[in-house]
Amino acid sequence: MSTTTPGASLFPKLLPDVLARFGARRRRTRVVSIGNVKVGGDEPIRVQSMCTTHTWDVQATLGQIARLQAAGCEIVRLTVPSQKDADALPRIREGMRECGLIVPIVADIHFSPKMAMLAAEHCDKVRINPGNFHDGQKFFKVREYTDAEYQDELAQIEESFTPLVQRCKARGISMRIGTNHGSLSDRIMNRYGDSPAGMVESALEFARIARRLDYHDVIFSMKASNTRVMIEAYRLLVARCAEEGLDLPLHLGVTEAGDGDDARIKSAIGMGTLLEDGIGDTIRVSLTEDPVHEVPVGFGLARVAGPRLRRVALSGSVPAERDLSPFEFRRRATRRVEQGGANAAMGGDQLPRVEVGLGRPSLAGPDKLLATARSLCAPSMGERKPELLSLDVGDASDVAALEALRERLEADTSAGPDAGPAGGLPLALEARVRPPVWRDLPALARVASVVDRLSPLGAAPADVPALQQALSAVADVTLLFEDELGGAAPDAQAARLADLVAAARAAKVEHVAVALRTPAPAAGQDPLSLVTPVRVLTAVLDARGLDVPVVLCAQARGDHGILDAATSAGGLLVDGIGDAVRIDGPTDPRRAVDLAFGILQGARRRTTRTEYISCPGCGRTLFELEPVTAKIKVRTSHLKGVKIAVMGCVVNGPGEMADADFGYVGWKPGKVNLYVGKTCVVRDVPEDDAPDKLVDLIKDHGRWIEPVQSDPLPVEAAVQVGS
Ligand code: SF4
Repeated sequence: MSTTTPGASLFPKLLPDVLARFGARRRRTRVVSIGNVKVGGDEPIRVQSMCTTHTWDVQATLGQIARLQAAGCEIVRLTVPSQKDADALPRIREGMRECGLIVPIVADIHFSPKMAMLAAEHCDKVRINPGNFHDGQKFFKVREYTDAEYQDELAQIEESFTPLVQRCKARGISMRIGTNHGSLSDRIMNRYGDSPAGMVESALEFARIARRLDYHDVIFSMKASNTRVMIEAYRLLVARCAEEGLDLPLHLGVTEAGDGDDARIKSAIGMGTLLEDGIGDTIRVSLTEDPVHEVPVGFGLARVAGPRLRRVALSGSVPAERDLSPFEFRRRATRRVEQGGANAAMGGDQLPRVEVGLGRPSLAGPDKLLATARSLCAPSMGERKPELLSLDVGDASDVAALEALRERLEADTSAGPDAGPAGGLPLALEARVRPPVWRDLPALARVASVVDRLSPLGAAPADVPALQQALSAVADVTLLFEDELGGAAPDAQAARLADLVAAARAAKVEHVAVALRTPAPAAGQDPLSLVTPVRVLTAVLDARGLDVPVVLCAQARGDHGILDAATSAGGLLVDGIGDAVRIDGPTDPRRAVDLAFGILQGARRRTTRTEYISCPGCGRTLFELEPVTAKIKVRTSHLKGVKIAVMGCVVNGPGEMADADFGYVGWKPGKVNLYVGKTCVVRDVPEDDAPDKLVDLIKDHGRWIEPVQSDPLPVEAAVQVGS
């Protein structure tokens, strides 16, 4: 364990069952009521959202509550930043009664114990932020706290927090102690750093006070926009709660997730991964969109912990994973394999690769495949170009089409300076070969001579010498063993793949990798998840010293395809597992590639675009978040690695925008402040000028590049992706 990780001394040595990685059960929690809705225990995962209206605007707020309830939202939160908002709560309650609205309402409080006390009179739950309930505004001051000073501040917190706890207890309402990564108090930051350990400690300080007052209707949250930080914080919280005997339910959320696919991907990686491990009792998806959109995404994710929660039965035991901490990121160590040029090498210190499946070459034909390949390598794809095309070879016509495609790829000059090693398009080729072809040695040798990777589907260890013979004539061809989920138990499947790898190593095949693939689900069914099977696979491989790279092949089909793929592949990537990603399901290969890169970026494994941190908005929001965010994205989405925050208000925005490089923050109606890091550098900018000023700021700081014009994939060039 790294000794430099902030707060590592707080990592528990004994892990609770729920952090067991090969068969976790839902974490046991007490049931906490929020009005008429129960959270925790065996209750379903509750889906909640938050109004973006000014709470004082009673009619607008009632209208949004009604829309959210109609969409199925089970709990609605309202911001209560001022006396005017608190005064509106009784009228909202009355209006709800008159309209027959029964969804529980929660007051969201920052900075003001007074507002919390007022809201506690009219709401079903009060959310406080331990980072600013007592400590107030952050100044990012660096100072050493002595133990005495620290204890003194805790005593002050107890004094200001106790009346609220007592009032909530007397009224029988619940409370959320909701930590946000971006708004830890200066006191916590100075002692524990900007870390999951600091987030957890921040919440536990308040929870201990509540427990001393014999108040237990408390729910925790540990939100962050960085999915890795968020997952590690919740896991650490679960472990620390187990140590302290706290069985409080958890509210999951990824903050400032933004909008569109990226927000859904980030939310699925953060929340889906935890739900899949049995952690979490209620969720809120934060979108910079109409809050009604959050509800179906929430239910899409809640499926993970419902019928979709797959308790994968093992046929035996699995070796413990060495060197693995659930509280900090470490990439699984693998041996680099070559597969057609440096940009496709996989494993070792290489970036995780993106692959795309294009089906049978004889069906699409070499010309159409070439057009698709060109489009995938077009400048407008920016950094999001795949590194490997995967093709299915089922008969002699596929072998011939594959040979023809290879020729065309090598002869193509459209890639210009980005050309591959042989001068053509910089794409490695894989053949996923069915048994009739690869058992025919001359056909196998032909395939091997034109591809960079060969995947003999359904091979057995006894077949490996023949495969080795076919590969021996060609250098740098990787032998990949791919298997599909849903057949054998994961440990039996892992043992079979490990036997194949061991046989290949014994036969002196230098470049070997493995893949697990999610099959296309039957109509009306949810796809299987890669998470547990691949964890089992890597544990088995590592125990046998087989440090081969792993390709994650996830399905993205149907209404929840993005969520399923991001949970399945992203859940592994955030744990450091996975050396390449292939997404099967979308009909447009550019979509499949974009999703794979989006998942890698959401898991913070490979950055290819601008990273946006945009708040969902609430009653404090000072501008139209959705159109403004869209406008900023149009101007800046090509800036690889630049992190831009778009925050609705200056009260919480600067604190919540975490590690953004640049910030666009609402200052007052019609006016914006611009930030570099945490520092406000341009004040009071009229909203109409602010996007230009933001671009100027990015240019001034040397982070600007000119965008490349888009060239959409022609319809006739699109081929069906994957199998
Ligand atoms: S940053 Fe401000 S406007 Fe945005 S959600 Fe937070 S409090 Fe509301």
